[in-house]
Amino acid sequence: MRVLLLGGTAEASALARRLYGDTRFDVTLSLAGRTSAPGVAAVPARSGGFGGAEGLARWIGEHRIDVLVDATHPFAVRISANAFAAAQASGVPLLSLRRAPWQRQPGDIWTCVGSAEEAARALGSAPARVFLTIGRQEVGAFRAAPQHAYVVRAIEAPAADALPPGAELILERGPFDLDAETALLRSRVIDVLVAKNSGAAATYAKIAAARALALPVVMIGQPGKAAGYVVGSVEEACARLAALLDHASVPSERGV
Ligand code: NAP
Repeated sequence: MRVLLLGGTAEASALARRLYGDTRFDVTLSLAGRTSAPGVAAVPARSGGFGGAEGLARWIGEHRIDVLVDATHPFAVRISANAFAAAQASGVPLLSLRRAPWQRQPGDIWTCVGSAEEAARALGSAPARVFLTIGRQEVGAFRAAPQHAYVVRAIEAPAADALPPGAELILERGPFDLDAETALLRSRVIDVLVAKNSGAAATYAKIAAARALALPVVMIGQPGKAAGYVVGSVEEACARLAALLDHASVPSERGV
């Protein structure tokens, strides 16, 4: 069964490895190509946009894809909308691997907002030292709140004109651990964090560190995403794909 797996997340990489190790599946992992070293060794991969929903539908047809799996990040809204439209147009099933958001725990001091712009406003007018960990794409929204001092952490550098003036930039890829996150918040004398509620285990330590230090967090909630058949884990995705395979009785292409 030919599977096109839209990735860019740890779960997508884990699923890609699982499917690659299973001779019933012929998997291609698709990455947006924004970061330089997403790294899923050995698994066949392609990189870069398809050219919207139509381009994705064309790719699905040209490569005779049997099932499309959307395992993209909870905040990657456009690719999921494209996946939904392309699956409909191509008549292939769409499986959507979705992560639950983090839940507020006792001791958490969260202000929940719906966008980066709202998060910038929620920081208030009094100058604060802000740890901004929302990736690089929406950092520019915080230029509207230049009264704050920012420590920005991202995998790759934002465009120079997107950074708030005077921001410190830390380029690092997770996973991060609690001790290191606590030490970072202390050393930079952080007053408040801004985070996306991605639900990822690899980036949760900063939330636990903020709780331990009684620091407030401005939490950007997950947007709604278009979805097909929704599964919540790599195991569930594998089970659903196996069920689709049984149903379709598609012969193995890798011939082992
Ligand atoms: P997006 O806004 O939903 O997508 C923008 C465009 O990038 C899409 O229309 C598509 O271009 C291309 N694209 C996105 N994901 C792709 C994939 N897996 N394979 C091929 N093309 C893809 O997405 P985004 O927020 O820019 O995120 C880009 C990638 O980074 C995603 O794969 C996502 O899983 C990952 N990521 C995102 C975040 C985040 O906070 N947004 C965080 C961590 C990882 P075309 O229309 O030309 O096909």
